[in-house]
Amino acid sequence: MSTIAENIQHIMSDIERVQEKCGRTRNSVLLLAVSKTKPVAAIHEAIQAGQRAFGENYVQEGVEKVRYFTEQAPDIPLEWHFIGPIQSNKTRLVAENFTWVHTIDRERIAQRLNDQRPEGMPPLQVLIQVNTSGESSKSGTGEQDIFQLAELISSLPNLTLRGLMSIPENISDYASQLAAFTKLAELKTKLQETYPEMDTLSMGMSGDMEAAIAAGSTIVRIGTAIFGARDYPKA
Ligand SMILES: *Cc1c(COP(=O)(O)O)cnc(C)c1O
Repeated sequence: MSTIAENIQHIMSDIERVQEKCGRTRNSVLLLAVSKTKPVAAIHEAIQAGQRAFGENYVQEGVEKVRYFTEQAPDIPLEWHFIGPIQSNKTRLVAENFTWVHTIDRERIAQRLNDQRPEGMPPLQVLIQVNTSGESSKSGTGEQDIFQLAELISSLPNLTLRGLMSIPENISDYASQLAAFTKLAELKTKLQETYPEMDTLSMGMSGDMEAAIAAGSTIVRIGTAIFGARDYPKA
């Protein structure tokens, strides 16, 4: 089995290769290491390999890790991204501990994150989670509600609207993946006319990273390909 360091190196060179193939600028895609369910020892290994941005899905688990590394490694500037579903009774912990939130899907959550962001911390960098497939079972804002949500977020002083995020259906053929990601990219371009600060597309996971980068992703969220299979199933 390969080590976490080897996996990161491998993915970084994959990202480079796809960027180059698509004529994109070097270093225009951030590798977000999704460390949900993984112990701090695994995160340590990733940090040793130079990884700085980590994604967590579960509030309590994520906050424990943020606090652990803030204490144990205060000199290493880590960037913590919250990428899981947010319940409104958990917004305070998210607002107090994370740098980015990828999963804002309704006004109430945006308002609470803004109100609960502690004074003296920089604005929370946020993305609107979009339900591009229109499946009612998946979380995410329907396309018709995005503009209203964007307007609210951009009016809130403690949030900075940076872009869009999606988790498309689990499809394995490249053309369908590319089509789903392109749809999100086009939506971002449309929103950018009104909100030029939107420069981020969080899309692409272990199984569909290439198509995401080809469509313009700026953050790929990779768990399994770095840390191996998870020990318990996704919530
Ligand atoms: C778990 C998760 C990932 C990582 O998925 P892998 O297939 O393990 O790379 C990415 N994004 C979100 C929102 C996740 O929940």
